[in-house]
Amino acid sequence: MLDSIKKMFSGSEEDYPASTTGKPDIPREKSAELYEKAKSYFPGGVNSPVRAFRSVYGTPLFIQKGDGCFVWDADGNQFIDFCGSWGPLILGHNNAKVREAVTAAMQNGMSFGAPTALENQLAALIIENNQYVEKIRFTSSGTEAVMSAIRLARGYTKRDKILKFEGCYHGHADSLLVKAGSGLVTFGETSSAGVPKSFADETIVVSLNDREAVERAFEQFKDQIAAVIIEGVPANNGLLIQDADYISFLREICTRNNSLLILDEVITGFRLGFEGAARHYNVRPDIVTYGKIIGGGLPVGMYGASAEIMGTVSPEGPVYQAGTLSGNPVAMAAGLAQLTELLRSGFYKDLNKKTQEFADSIQRFATARNYKFKVFSIGSIFWFAFTDKENIKTAEEIDPASMEKFKVMHRELLNRNIYLGPSGYEVGFVSAAHSKVELEKAKRAIFESLDIVFRGK
Ligand SMILES: *Cc1c(COP(=O)(O)O)cnc(C)c1O
Repeated sequence: MLDSIKKMFSGSEEDYPASTTGKPDIPREKSAELYEKAKSYFPGGVNSPVRAFRSVYGTPLFIQKGDGCFVWDADGNQFIDFCGSWGPLILGHNNAKVREAVTAAMQNGMSFGAPTALENQLAALIIENNQYVEKIRFTSSGTEAVMSAIRLARGYTKRDKILKFEGCYHGHADSLLVKAGSGLVTFGETSSAGVPKSFADETIVVSLNDREAVERAFEQFKDQIAAVIIEGVPANNGLLIQDADYISFLREICTRNNSLLILDEVITGFRLGFEGAARHYNVRPDIVTYGKIIGGGLPVGMYGASAEIMGTVSPEGPVYQAGTLSGNPVAMAAGLAQLTELLRSGFYKDLNKKTQEFADSIQRFATARNYKFKVFSIGSIFWFAFTDKENIKTAEEIDPASMEKFKVMHRELLNRNIYLGPSGYEVGFVSAAHSKVELEKAKRAIFESLDIVFRGK
């Protein structure tokens, strides 16, 4: 998503040179036609910038339907999908249990703006199986959840500043559309027009995996930092897997300074395990945010904390936050159905093992051929990086020039009926619906595509 912010301003529509690789391009006439229309309706023809294919060849594919690990586009091309709607679809597309729960809930109406039993049921399922939250509130997106968590942290601590990390995406709320300036500890610079400089001045941005910068920030802004916010595992600008002791360090320095630690688990929540990255690192956040998987493909976000901290939220406390469609019954039913499946014993073990094997065998192929290519993975998230670095823990370590290789790979994969998110900064997701057969097919396509990227065959 960060990539998309950059591309929003600089991106132009790329030429789409004829394929020279012996594999014909898939038919895209219907998608191209729909895209032409869409451009007259929406900025860039899309309702979220990365969808515009500005970082890869061609124009966006318009998706007609999904089932299991497959999607079909408007031209009837079928793909094995590793985008999974950017994360929510951990059970795959159009899962029968989720679909049935949604259609059942819809029989009673779409929205009431009054409490329903379904909200209680989803809340109970989460709170009983998550040691990090005592009370929660549902929102309608991840952005809203994070925005509300930040306000809560500020209201609870009565401090204004927040500290975030370069390379972490937390949705598009003003105070988080901020990137690092130059220097070790900097006030952020806005990364979007329309964000007042004065808002960015309340956000401190430092590099990931850097203790000194965080320590300096706490010295320089003593008693002013309401919260440190970090993604459970940064997975919106490459997959920047942090060391466990770095996350523990953040926990300690927040505790020492009476600041809150916000773990933004919108992408990692219910993905790395039911209790997300907090459990993976065994670190207790003060506030945690969820989104994506929690809604089973419908728009749901959530933030949660101890009963004491949540007591600051209105109407119990002075921090205002609301939503016309918050806790929407149809969305609650989808979340309830999906999360119930995730609690089945062995669910994560199987999914993560499958992903690990997939990533390992791609890595073995690339290593055997001396390709400058790494597959980073954690849980059921993977990221293809055109690098020879063993680890990438900071945004600065990603070579923008390597994205040219991703572009070629993306096209070759589409031509072999594999759909990845249209940016080399985005991660891929394996779902429970990806069977061995499809993963083998995908691997073969990936091997062929890597050969073309590196040998031009
Ligand atoms: C996707 C994401 C968000 C934003 O969620 P939306 O539902 O797109 O608003 C926030 N934080 C993280 C870590 C995310 O991955």
